Amino acid sequence: MKPSIAELIPSTPATLSNWIAGEPVGPMSHAYYMDNVNPATGKVISKIPRSQDMDVQAALRAAQSAQLIWKKTSLPERADLLESIADAIEARKDEFAQAESLDTGKPFHIAKNVDISRAISNFRFFTGAIRHDETGCHMMGDALNYTVRKPLGVVALITPWNLPLYLLSWKLAPAIAMGNAVVAKPSELTPTTATLLAEIFNEVGAPKGLYNVVHGRGIEAGTALTNHPIVKAISFTGGTQTGRYVAQSGAEQFKKMSLEMGGKNAALVFEDADIERTVQGIRRASFLNQGQICLCASRILVQRSIYDEFVAKLVAAVQELTVGDPQSESSDLGALISDDHQQKIIGYVQSAKRDGGKVLCGGSIPELSDEIRGGSWFQPTVIVDLPTSCKISMEEVFGPVVVVHPFDTEEEAIEIANGTQYGLAATVWTQNLERAHRVSVAMDTGLVWVNTWLHRDLRTPFGGVKNSGIGREGGHYSLDFYSNAQNICISLPRS
Ligand code: NAD
Repeated sequence: MKPSIAELIPSTPATLSNWIAGEPVGPMSHAYYMDNVNPATGKVISKIPRSQDMDVQAALRAAQSAQLIWKKTSLPERADLLESIADAIEARKDEFAQAESLDTGKPFHIAKNVDISRAISNFRFFTGAIRHDETGCHMMGDALNYTVRKPLGVVALITPWNLPLYLLSWKLAPAIAMGNAVVAKPSELTPTTATLLAEIFNEVGAPKGLYNVVHGRGIEAGTALTNHPIVKAISFTGGTQTGRYVAQSGAEQFKKMSLEMGGKNAALVFEDADIERTVQGIRRASFLNQGQICLCASRILVQRSIYDEFVAKLVAAVQELTVGDPQSESSDLGALISDDHQQKIIGYVQSAKRDGGKVLCGGSIPELSDEIRGGSWFQPTVIVDLPTSCKISMEEVFGPVVVVHPFDTEEEAIEIANGTQYGLAATVWTQNLERAHRVSVAMDTGLVWVNTWLHRDLRTPFGGVKNSGIGREGGHYSLDFYSNAQNICISLPRS
């Protein structure tokens, strides 16, 4: 039987380490530890190093030494290592899922079937990608050009709390596949699976220092990393304002940068959509992971002729969602990441009410059992009757709250959808193929899904435009980012 959440919380918090050169090490200034809280209960589950400059420098030196060896390995050797990492995570899947669930407050079954499954797929995908990769070859009449991908050196991976291992592995697998060594700075709110992964690297015999982890605050450990000249590239996923700081610090030394940032994604529902399928699709797109996915739909735009019917059905479907114990298979939503985040979401709902919004369901903290009452919770919430320019419709809430707006014409829907600073993802719900294409290309976003959401082929380009990001991840886009292309031109004089 699965243990209860109370049984999973240690009576004395565990102490997590940084991982440098294949060894678990504490912070160099010994006193500096921070609390890692389980957001479902509010209890401290571990202490993590609050790393400073010195810790980051040690990790960077370890990575630099490892990279000198690693860059000499062949692509098939690297593919073998990636595959063995995937196998080793798979063998400890429940342990990883439990750690992710405890750090984030998300349901265990979602951590297992979404987060950890995808982390394993990321390593397997890039195993295949480098086994089957081809580079360019351009023939001239009197010369042959061919392209070689060379590693960058040491790269910094900075990741958020919402999908901790999922997003870290999405960067880490292609980074090492291309011959780089890595220093990772996971979110201080979700440090555990990045740490477990360091054990896996040792278990499979990876070179010591290929993957290093420094824990701590973004403003300390994060900036120490982005400012350091050893770091040749920064791959960052997180909020737009943090991305701006990261970009500024990396620009000084012309580091290569990939920035995946915030979103305010619109779902456009046309009168010819299959309503039942759309309601189910939008419920998932809005509330998976408590709405804490950068791709979640948070502005639902519905054609006026079906507005009343659609809203009634959406609200009924949302009211069927179960919020509760992350250990229970029947929980659809778990806790939010923290009390601070819960307060931010409550603030947005209050601002919506001040702007004239009507809360049709949710809008407050749910009733919960004693075991989890101390956590950071919020009900899935649907709000209507707001102007499209109000605060909650323009800013990223990153929680289980959606606003629904009516529209009359396709042009109006496009204008509203494109009317924010963000440009990450959109979904279009229609059975008219021409409209699906016409509206999709009109979206100022990096991603569009038609009659689906989070349907991912890992070869496709992933990323945003405007204040949602720079660069693309996925398939050869990732391989290109984590390498420098070099062209070699060989003269072939005509005899
Ligand atoms: P955040 O920006 O607060 O933190 C992200 C990471 O950056 C953390 O590891 C943090 O410690 C670090 N950091 C903070 N300040 C830093 C600094 N000055 N220098 C270097 N590193 C620093 O984001 P978050 O709250 O952890 O995550 C939520 C945000 O992430 C949302 O805005 C969400 O949209 C975004 N996100 C985007 C994507 C995407 O693919 N576009 C995916 C997931 C999450």
